[in-house]
Amino acid sequence: MRAAIYNEPGDIAIEEVPKPEIEDPNDAIVRVTYTAVCGSDLWFYRGLSDREEGSRVGHEPMGIVEDVGDEVTSVTPGDRVFAPFVVSCGKCEFCRKGLHTSCVNGGSWSGANGGAQGEYVRSPHADGTLVRVPDRHADDEDTLRSLLPLTDVMGTGHHAAVSAGVEAGDTCIVIGDGAVGLCGVLAARRLGAERIIAMGHHDDRLELAEEFGATETVAARGEEAVERAQELTYGGANHVLECVGAASAMETAIDVCRPGGTIGYVGVPHGVDEEGLEVYSMFGDNIGLRGGIAPVRAYAEELMADVLQGTLDPSPIFTKTVDLDGVPDGYRAMDEREAIKVLVKPQR
Ligand SMILES: [Zn+2]
Ligand SMILES: [Zn+2]
Repeated sequence: MRAAIYNEPGDIAIEEVPKPEIEDPNDAIVRVTYTAVCGSDLWFYRGLSDREEGSRVGHEPMGIVEDVGDEVTSVTPGDRVFAPFVVSCGKCEFCRKGLHTSCVNGGSWSGANGGAQGEYVRSPHADGTLVRVPDRHADDEDTLRSLLPLTDVMGTGHHAAVSAGVEAGDTCIVIGDGAVGLCGVLAARRLGAERIIAMGHHDDRLELAEEFGATETVAARGEEAVERAQELTYGGANHVLECVGAASAMETAIDVCRPGGTIGYVGVPHGVDEEGLEVYSMFGDNIGLRGGIAPVRAYAEELMADVLQGTLDPSPIFTKTVDLDGVPDGYRAMDEREAIKVLVKPQR
């Protein structure tokens, strides 16, 4: 089969690789029909994080079950499924408490499981990992496009909102206008926030944030952005969604959080180790910090229910679609900020 491979920074290639096979009775093989390039893929693409040369890439698979092991009970060949960006068993202590990203039997899409940017993946712990799309929606392309972000960015934006404690009537600030930030706006609106202030640096993305429910946007940078957000909220918001994953964004989050408020953070905290966290500001103003890597499997069913009933649609974040051969161009387009998020169709 063919799959996308990481060679070195800036170099993604499509190569012939072994097709995964059932190796454990809990495995399923999925023919990947839809997947995506992720903002988090840009960290290794830009050489800012390490990745093994020759490794397979992609972690947002959706497709058709082709084969299942003897112990798999929740899906059968022919079912349309999608999977979160991590593998989880669904049975351990942490899966049971909704923290699938800490699954003691967990795993990832890479190595011998195959990256999602390829023609097939093997899902270990298929019963705990795969989410089955109800049959009557299983072939509707528009619905599938709307469900695909539940593999990662929509669940992650939702985790930011939940972690920040957003409830009906609240005012919140969303930091970041990438796919996760935009999904954070959708999530905050879905939870009933009355005022949603989106902060970012790109006019076209902030326009989409408004379509998604942002009531105000702040496009300024640095100190000016903080002042503007404070002005709009009369001294900061009680709920701040940090959806970037960089030391500067975390600093902004602390600066625009109202005393006694909570920051929900979901971006991989790049640079925070080196630059430190303003713990004293947080201490002085009793600012809470919650969140982390999003357990998107825990949110998949409730978010899918809303997509299927037509009240949630994150699909406008996909501003470019490519086939498998177009994956390298998809990375380039996201790196150059020409696309917000790229949808990939590896197979029919
Ligand atoms: Zn991702
Ligand atoms: Zn588990």
